[in-house]
Amino acid sequence: MYLFSACLAGQPVRYDGKSYHHQLIQSLIQQQSAICACPEMLGGLACPRAPAEISGGTAQDVLAGTAQVIDRDGRNVTQAFIDGAYRTLELAQKHQVHTAVLKENSPSCGANYIYDGSFSGQKNAGMGIAAALLRQHGIKVISEQEFFEIADNL
Ligand code: SF4
Repeated sequence: MYLFSACLAGQPVRYDGKSYHHQLIQSLIQQQSAICACPEMLGGLACPRAPAEISGGTAQDVLAGTAQVIDRDGRNVTQAFIDGAYRTLELAQKHQVHTAVLKENSPSCGANYIYDGSFSGQKNAGMGIAAALLRQHGIKVISEQEFFEIADNL
C-alpha cells in the first residue's frame, strides 16, 4: 500500500487551499491501492493557514523537542506538526503502508528538501517532520518526482 500526501491527490489542503492533480495518484486511490493523508490537517491546523518552516534544527530535532516549527506570522505551531506526524504514522501502520510518496519541500512532507526557516525561498537538504517519523519507523519515503520516475513500472 502506498500513502500519498493528500495535496498530491487533488485534495485542497495546502496552506493556500490549493492542490495538485495527478491522474495516476488519484487512480491508485480509487483502486484502493493507495491512501492519502495531510499531516498538517491531521494535526489540527486550518486551511488556508499561514505557511510554516522548521526553525533552529532538523525535523529529527523537532521530534526530539529541540527545534520548532514557526509560521510566517510568528506563531509556534510545533505541536500541531508533531501531532500530525504521529497521526500519519498511525494511519500508515494501520494500512500496512510500505512506501510514502510525499510532497517535496514541505515542512511536514519534504522527502529530501525543506525550506530553511527564513521564509526567503531558500531550501536545504532535509526532511519534513512526518517524513522523518515515517522513516524512523521503517517506511520508505520518496518524493513525488522520485515516484513518477518509477511509475512506468507499476
Ligand atoms: Fe500537502 Fe503534506 Fe502540506 Fe498536507 S502537509 S498540504 S499533504 S505537503
